[in-house]
Amino acid sequence: KGMGGAGFPTARKWELVAAESADTKYVICNADESEPGTFKDRMLLATLPHLVIEGMVLAGLSVGARRGIIFLRHEYSLEQQALEEALQLATQQGVLGPDAAGSGRAFEIEIFVSPGGYILGEETALLEALEDRRGEPRNKPPYPGQVGLFGQPTLINNVETFALAVTIIARGADWWRLQGADGFEGLKFVSISGDVNQPGVHEIPVGTTVAELIESAGGVVGGKSVKAFLPGGASSRFLPGERLDTPLDFESIAAAGSMLGTGAVIVAAEDRDLFDLATSLVRFFRNESCGKCVPCRIGSHHAVTLLDRVADGSASPGSLDELTPLGQTLEQTSICGLGQVALVPILSMLEHFPEEVPGA
Ligand code: SF4
Repeated sequence: KGMGGAGFPTARKWELVAAESADTKYVICNADESEPGTFKDRMLLATLPHLVIEGMVLAGLSVGARRGIIFLRHEYSLEQQALEEALQLATQQGVLGPDAAGSGRAFEIEIFVSPGGYILGEETALLEALEDRRGEPRNKPPYPGQVGLFGQPTLINNVETFALAVTIIARGADWWRLQGADGFEGLKFVSISGDVNQPGVHEIPVGTTVAELIESAGGVVGGKSVKAFLPGGASSRFLPGERLDTPLDFESIAAAGSMLGTGAVIVAAEDRDLFDLATSLVRFFRNESCGKCVPCRIGSHHAVTLLDRVADGSASPGSLDELTPLGQTLEQTSICGLGQVALVPILSMLEHFPEEVPGA
């Protein structure tokens, strides 16, 4: 599975681009990691940049591309430095160049620093930015695998996906499957933040429970209990603390009512103000909306205004009832994932913790 959030099968994506007959194809590494609480790719870029490069070379040779581009978040200057050094070394060693990795075929990689903005992490907005246009998502289909950068077939994968592909190809699928916890397969990088003693990035066997991950992160601040957690970053649904035994795996988190998403666990302790936390996440999506579609642009702003009014007492808690149909409208009519999930933080909070609403 791809590790950028959607979990689309990576081999299938590579096969689709390989099957295209175009002379020019591209491989793009989406390193525009910007979701609140998500910082696993940053660690990979800073400490294991050669793995990302090697994964891109393998992908390029597999799909028939000669050019790779790392689309890098503009704040990642240390990571850019590490990447530049690794690219230089890879060129010196012949991993990149006219005879990439001794394949007899050329493959080069360049870094493109993002102009900035969360929405550019959406793959088609990223393509628009690379083509020197305003960074707004495109309607899909067509998908980038067929019609991507400058109209050519383009493979876009996330940083972690490229890094993990190297190990899977080197050690084989059987070895990979055995790395998971009991009954699960593979490894996963996850970031953990919020009310834990040691926020950071962990490489875990898939199937590790949220409780085990929290323990690895030094436990909850002050020895408090967990009121709620987000298992997959700002766009995943809140789960209550009673679900800490949920394994970190795509299907198990989905069965529990949320999603693994970007692999970013955010922990809220018993005294955390969840209404405030959920409002700040909706505000983030409102601020980052590119404005292309009306439901997202107007709807997310309306939601923030309403939440602020409930917080200051000028609107009643009951007025939040309108967020449910508004959220459904955004989900069904927004072009991209941002609008589709913009109200998820507050709606999932209201589902599990209605008593957290001020004045309730
Ligand atoms: Fe832009 Fe929001 Fe529409 Fe996405 S859903 S294209 S962020 S306006």
